[in-house]
Amino acid sequence: MKNFTGMKTNEVKAGNVIIGGGHPIVVQTMCNTHTADVDASTAQCIRLYEAGAEMIRLTVPAMSDVKALGEIRDRLRSKGIDVPLVADVHFSSEIAIAAAEIVEKVRINPGNFHRDFTKACGQFSKLVEVCRKHGTALRIGLNHGSLGERITTLYGNTPLAMKEAAMEWLDLCIRNDFTNAVVSLKASNTIVMVEAYRLLAEAMEKKGMAFPLHLGVTEAGNGDSGRIKSAAGISALLSEGIGDTVRVSLTEDPANEIPVARYLSDRYGNRLKTSLIESVTDGRKITATYDSPSRERLMLDFACDFGRMLLDREIDGVELKGSYLDGNGRKVLLDGTAEASYLEDELLQATRRKFYKPEYVACPGCGRTMYNLEETFNEVKRRTSHLKGMVIAVMGCIVNGPGEMADADWGYVGEGNRKVTIYRKKTPVLRHIPESEAIDRLLELIEAQGK
Ligand code: SF4
Repeated sequence: MKNFTGMKTNEVKAGNVIIGGGHPIVVQTMCNTHTADVDASTAQCIRLYEAGAEMIRLTVPAMSDVKALGEIRDRLRSKGIDVPLVADVHFSSEIAIAAAEIVEKVRINPGNFHRDFTKACGQFSKLVEVCRKHGTALRIGLNHGSLGERITTLYGNTPLAMKEAAMEWLDLCIRNDFTNAVVSLKASNTIVMVEAYRLLAEAMEKKGMAFPLHLGVTEAGNGDSGRIKSAAGISALLSEGIGDTVRVSLTEDPANEIPVARYLSDRYGNRLKTSLIESVTDGRKITATYDSPSRERLMLDFACDFGRMLLDREIDGVELKGSYLDGNGRKVLLDGTAEASYLEDELLQATRRKFYKPEYVACPGCGRTMYNLEETFNEVKRRTSHLKGMVIAVMGCIVNGPGEMADADWGYVGEGNRKVTIYRKKTPVLRHIPESEAIDRLLELIEAQGK
């Protein structure tokens, strides 16, 4: 959808923050503490708020966590911290309704409320009434990996299915005369993610709807790859005027997500310019020269300047030149270096133009995570780095992990109690494996499959 020139969205109010309506792009993140651990969760919220989070999400897996959420909110407010809190609720409309009475926003996938669509609609309408009464915002969050059988039977597991699913719930919002809602259509695959949001923006425009969009590349992983992948996908949309709030999902300390999200908000709010100083086009390849104040800034500028063109196949490659300043203020030259070539490959992989290494899908972790996700993910990456082109998922919980890992070839999914289930595509092939053995067993299975 290349003709789309941006959308003017409604204002959605979540506490003292307004999303959409031309307001600055809101930067948000999510706690990875157990919500029931009120001390740890409150401390992390304070740290994330001080790092610049404008909205903070916490998982609410059980009704008992709603009480903890209320305590966290009260402790923050007593310290004068008024950052809006978002309850992340899966499957249970009762928990969503209880949370909507105490926090500023609730994130749900209403399609998962009930297998029977009519019943799911009824539960969603009840939730909308509670949100209306309490002035609570909603996020209808439909991820590529969790669309549900009804929709995927009709449309496949496609961007079109994501758009169609979202439009069903937005139509119901309109029928309920409720517009305090934002929508997200996240995917780990940047092509799927960009296409889904573009289709939705176009569909909403045709129907005269203007719900703000929450952007994110889900399960983006960590390190350079997670940053480049997130920046490429999110910037492709922000550069077209699509998107009102962003969350950069990294399998790291959530505080690390905020500078990346802030960069995107500032850049597309016209408060930050790229460090690109020259670009020369030679056929379908561009040579780009940067003079960048830091390595992270270079990566983000590079991903934003050329990610969309690669995703849309307007170009086939970018040669990276110029320099950045390292942590000691020394100039690091890029021309013809292994680092330049590595960053070029990373952007090509992020935009799915070249698979020079395995494709990793890793959730950021949340209060449902039952093990040291970041450490395990880094170890899986270290031991599988030779499996070029294979899609390997590392997911924090057995409740959402299997659904969310979408099109992974292999999945390492934490069960809790130091046990892991290994998946081949969507099928669990080894259950209840002790964590200490799980990576070995995964590699054995991959090798056996290869033979
Ligand atoms: S898959 Fe990861 S981020 Fe999603 S609910 Fe489970 S632990 Fe949390």
